[in-house]
Amino acid sequence: MEGFQLLCDISELNHLFRDSVSVEGFLQKTVEMVTHRLKTDVCSIYLYDEEEDLLVMRATQGLHPDSVGQVRMKPSEGLTGKALRELRPIYETRATRHPEFKPFIGTNEEQFENFLAVPITRGLNRIGVLVLQRGKRRKFSDEDIMACKAVASQLANIIENARFLMTLHAPHEDKPRPEPATPAPDMIRGKTACAGFGFGPCRILNREHTLATLSRREYPEVYSPADFDRAVRTTAEQLEDLQNRVEEKLSDAASLIFASHLLILKDHAFVGEMRKRIEKGINPPLAILEITRQYLDIFDRSESSYIREKVQDVEDLIVRLIDNLLQKSGPAEEFAHRVVIARELFPSDLLRMSSEEVAGAVLVAGGVTSHLSILARSLQIPMVIAQAPELMKLTDGTPVLLDADTGNVYVRPNETIVHSFRNRIEARTALKERKPEVKPETTTRDGVRIRLMANINLLSDVSLAKDLLCEGVGLYRTEFPFIVRSDFPSEEEQLLAYRRLVEAMDGKPVTFRTLDIGGDKVLSYYPFPQEQNPSMGMRSIRFSLDNRPIFLQQLRAILRAGVGADLRVMFPMIASLDDFLQARQLLRQAAEQLKAEQTPHHESPKVGMMVELPCVIPTIESLAEEADFFSIGTNDLIQFMLGVDRTNEKVESYYLPHHPAVFRAIRDVVAAADRHGREASICGDMAHETAYLTVLVGMGVRTLSVEPVYIPQIQKILEMMDSAKAKTLAEKVLSSGSVNDIERLLGFESQS
Ligand code: PEP
Ligand code: MG
Repeated sequence: MEGFQLLCDISELNHLFRDSVSVEGFLQKTVEMVTHRLKTDVCSIYLYDEEEDLLVMRATQGLHPDSVGQVRMKPSEGLTGKALRELRPIYETRATRHPEFKPFIGTNEEQFENFLAVPITRGLNRIGVLVLQRGKRRKFSDEDIMACKAVASQLANIIENARFLMTLHAPHEDKPRPEPATPAPDMIRGKTACAGFGFGPCRILNREHTLATLSRREYPEVYSPADFDRAVRTTAEQLEDLQNRVEEKLSDAASLIFASHLLILKDHAFVGEMRKRIEKGINPPLAILEITRQYLDIFDRSESSYIREKVQDVEDLIVRLIDNLLQKSGPAEEFAHRVVIARELFPSDLLRMSSEEVAGAVLVAGGVTSHLSILARSLQIPMVIAQAPELMKLTDGTPVLLDADTGNVYVRPNETIVHSFRNRIEARTALKERKPEVKPETTTRDGVRIRLMANINLLSDVSLAKDLLCEGVGLYRTEFPFIVRSDFPSEEEQLLAYRRLVEAMDGKPVTFRTLDIGGDKVLSYYPFPQEQNPSMGMRSIRFSLDNRPIFLQQLRAILRAGVGADLRVMFPMIASLDDFLQARQLLRQAAEQLKAEQTPHHESPKVGMMVELPCVIPTIESLAEEADFFSIGTNDLIQFMLGVDRTNEKVESYYLPHHPAVFRAIRDVVAAADRHGREASICGDMAHETAYLTVLVGMGVRTLSVEPVYIPQIQKILEMMDSAKAKTLAEKVLSSGSVNDIERLLGFESQS
């Protein structure tokens, strides 16, 4: 029972972490907690130092305290090393007699024969080992082992964030000065990434600029050590508050997103060094900046993208800390009710903006089908992408009105514009309050049944999907919870999120697309190799097949969450029958593992694939024999078929969903699926673009999966459609060889 109690209290680890003053202090408290809860004689944590290829004891309860930092071993040595090497728990009841046991003189561990070592891993990263030891007669139960695995997985989250603090200091050079502010034009036209309006003072998100500005300015006012301590306290409170809000709003995404900020604040070497300087009489802002420079210098020089991401965290934190110091009372939130203008945004920025109720965002580079735009839509942050770097030169606080419906950005808008904007907001609020009229089933005017499913990116999309009566989930982009986090979610964390989706859908079909990372969907915490063409590189199903532990973990979580559901699993970026069969084999392996462990799971989900690569079209017949269903991902299919980068706004005019090759490819997939009694749906953006609906239905498409917000509008159009006329139009379009002819058939010319 104690094991289960421990499992239930795992969130306590997060609290322990938040209350600790240092990483070492946190690890020590953790071993004390585990020792107490599992009534074990010894609990120790070893961390793995990759550069030295050494496991080093970092905390212990029960062994001699001097062992900390002294007990070191190669992963090739001892039972502890074995757990890390083989990535599995090692349990021995007569440890000292085991040929691989490695004794350490002076630790007093010889008396503890029951030895349990559980690896601490995060995705593919080996982080360390949690070791528990008991005397001869007190064995560990299966429950104890389960509890330890759960603690190890939670510890991994936190330690991963702490690792970067375990580096040393070095001097730093000043960064180049930013250009002075210059006025930007009054109105800029951009493209809608997420519709909506936003009006407020702008916030230029230019991290280098912000920190450089702070470094350059003078600090005539002298602050006291007490002012500094207060600023540190306020900063910690603000970060904890932010973390709580993100957790409330986005339960699947939340995982100590602000952990590294908090850790830096708790690091002795960092804040302690600042305090030492302040006590010697250095003005606090200067002391903060001096130590920060030392840190940034270390991080800046790093090759690792993980560490470089931390540069951003340090900069964010310092700006916040100095703001708190100078303002004496806590500053307002950074993004609240502001229009953020940025050259580059990370998913974690969007999360933070969302939790702070940002007014909107303007990105001065990028394409609208990029995943950042998709995420903005999930978070409902009005966003425009405008090729207007001059916006970055605006002074912070300049009023900006964002009309993300049309893609217009107004700088210092006049009274008339603001007035009409307010009217439109009121009208929209009234419209929102009126529930859109949707029917649970969709049919064309002549009675052809079309299924409207929802694309889900984050669980926050689910309530709208349900309100709008979607007939199930046609695409759950499981990578989004991975992207917006600061570390790999564990199997249990994935299970929780997936289970919530399955429960919300209440028996309707739920299609899990397995991890589709790489390309423009990078994980800040995973060091993707540098590639010339990442969208054609080690991404998507290739990543999963190459990283089996991660893939299997996800497949297990999906199968476990799918108990009793109409579960469908589909694989992204399949290039061949061989890819598909390999991926399906791993799904079967995951099911076999679960069966052997007697863990409840779905035994026979439908297994399908995305059609996103042109090479799939000529081989579609063989795929249709094996795959239970196809889902056409037009976003990528168009990109690869036409050789046009979907994230590059410069080649936007070449990105043509109505290219004859695209329509013919869709036709071929639908026809092959029909011949084999399989379902073919469309889940790319083309499914919600009303201009193509008639042709798609005319070609025989009967299932569309779209972002929930589009469901009412699409249903209305379909209800007015005549399927026989749609078929005639489709035939004409399919026999046209030129984009121009198709545009004429679809009435594009008359619209412009
Ligand atoms: C697609 O490629 O059309 C698709 C639905 O997948 P994603 O947009 O996530 O790449
Ligand atoms: Mg895709």
